[in-house]
Amino acid sequence: MILILKPDITTQGPEFEKIDNYLKQFPNVKIKLVELEGETRKVREIHLIGPTHDIPEDVLLAMPGIEQLIRVSQKYRQIGRYDVDLVPVGFTYQGLKFDQESFHIFAGPCAVDTPEYTEEVFKGLQRLGIVTSRMGAYKPRTSPYDFQGHGAKCLPWVFELAGKYGIKIIAMEVLREQHIEEIRAALRDAGNPTGVMLQVGTRNAQNFELLKAVGSQKEFPVLYKRGMGLTLEESLNACEYIVSEGNRRIVFCLRGVKTQLGSPHRNLVDFVHVPVIKRLTRLPVCIDPSHSIGSKARASDGPLEIAHAAAQGVIAGANMILLECHPNPGDALCDSQQLLTLSELEQFIKDMALVRETYKKRIGLYS
Ligand code: PEP
Ligand code: MN
Repeated sequence: MILILKPDITTQGPEFEKIDNYLKQFPNVKIKLVELEGETRKVREIHLIGPTHDIPEDVLLAMPGIEQLIRVSQKYRQIGRYDVDLVPVGFTYQGLKFDQESFHIFAGPCAVDTPEYTEEVFKGLQRLGIVTSRMGAYKPRTSPYDFQGHGAKCLPWVFELAGKYGIKIIAMEVLREQHIEEIRAALRDAGNPTGVMLQVGTRNAQNFELLKAVGSQKEFPVLYKRGMGLTLEESLNACEYIVSEGNRRIVFCLRGVKTQLGSPHRNLVDFVHVPVIKRLTRLPVCIDPSHSIGSKARASDGPLEIAHAAAQGVIAGANMILLECHPNPGDALCDSQQLLTLSELEQFIKDMALVRETYKKRIGLYS
């Protein structure tokens, strides 16, 4: 159950004390205070966690401090679309808006390798007018003998180069809390030349301690990747962990699910869920065609299958694309089989612009 307090009610006032005293009659119900930046004002909520069915609504609604009471039937109570418009959909970070209308392409290598290649990627993105990139310094790998990323030591030059080419945000995976600290420290030491969206990878989709760690800081937004073997509801509940720790700046990323039924693709493409997530939640939705398809197979009508898959997500309203590319894919240290070259990236971006325009025209038919 969520109690939304009236605008002028603070935790110091008598109205709050009255509510708090009343709720003490229900010792098994845990009380959590949440403060949110709404569209027009700060919103204070009391979240009641546990067996709330015995709490009479009429008593609470009669109390002077309470504006609204929401019985949350879904498990993901905060990211869900309950019928209150006080809390905005989406967020702004580094001057860029992320919501269910925005559209961004985050392109870059799977993993950071050399300063030369990193510079070439950023320079290429700048030439194409793209200010958002992706690259991993910490890489979870299936085999312990594979390259696991340069870690913290590459961060100073990655961030400096990003700043030099006007890259505003890099999506970067973190595997544990310490990585967030390392990113924060490196950004600060470099004078914050860029921003980072913390990526929770599919392998950590139910690593609840990591979810709490990215959720309990508010400096960086989070790109949450759906668990490759999880139902949508399980992954949405994982996002709920993040927001319940206080960080509401989340983008939900579809990256395909693991099953032989997706073969010959690396995963079964799940972009048909783009409108479903937009309907069920207030999160912007990202698609990752690189890890979904996992190869550079080219369709008989011309485009790479990665582009065809991305088009399917964008035509259905995706708000962000996470795409892997590299100046010289054969030299890359991770996922080389699915990396677009920079000239393929240019073609891909033009293609997605066409698809996005068509999406907007489609929506116009229904408005
Ligand atoms: C990645 O984006 O580099 C990555 C490892 O993705 P996923 O967690 O979806 O496999
Ligand atoms: Mn990868």
